[in-house]
Amino acid sequence: MNESLLIAIDGPSGSGKSSTSRGVAQRLGLAYLDTGSLYRAAAIAFLESGLDASRTAEVEALVRGARIVAGTDPANPSTSLDGRDVTDEIREPHVSAKVSAIATNLGVREALTQQFRDLIAQHGRRMVVEGRDITTVVAPDADLRILLVADPAARIARRQAELGGKVDADQVTDQVVRRDRDDATVSQFEKPAEGVELVDSTFLDLDQVIDRICAMVPNGD
Ligand code: C5P
Repeated sequence: MNESLLIAIDGPSGSGKSSTSRGVAQRLGLAYLDTGSLYRAAAIAFLESGLDASRTAEVEALVRGARIVAGTDPANPSTSLDGRDVTDEIREPHVSAKVSAIATNLGVREALTQQFRDLIAQHGRRMVVEGRDITTVVAPDADLRILLVADPAARIARRQAELGGKVDADQVTDQVVRRDRDDATVSQFEKPAEGVELVDSTFLDLDQVIDRICAMVPNGD
């Protein structure tokens, strides 16, 4: 029961990563880590600092000095920045629009990657971890590694539904297509790395994707 069961799930925005990862964690009784939420909280700290993204060392120091905490209960995801609850704010379009500026800072990536690895160890490697570089950089030694993809049209439609018409079509396309293009400059999540299983969610509903991933768990149920 206390054996390691570390599941790494990467994918582009709108692929259904978060709902899938939470569902898998709940079904298997594992902790859950949404690494994107920490990048998003770091983006809020960056936006509030007024720093220019080109001042990479200062931005890295800012993020290293910030207290960013992500809850690991899949039933109740939460994120805080220096003691302030930013669970809703991290989803705001102005944060989504700036997060790649933080995520392309390699010093910031190093700092957050260390934080993710510490959290994985604290949970005895019984965790579902989702992001862009989990299968390749953060936890290439995970017990199961998945790349979750979906056609761009399906991803844009899902993001639009998620945002409930709060933003226009151009903003949604920017959030999905432009953000993935920028993110792809620092993480390889478009093709599965060796040993990573590809799951295409374009024509599957959430339960079907969760079923498929749970069925891939080594010696799992
Ligand atoms: O997954 P989500 O869309 O919330 O991620 C927000 C942003 O955080 C991504 O667009 C990407 O820039 C960054 N990110 C990353 N590496 C991860 C997770 C997220 O660069 N492992």
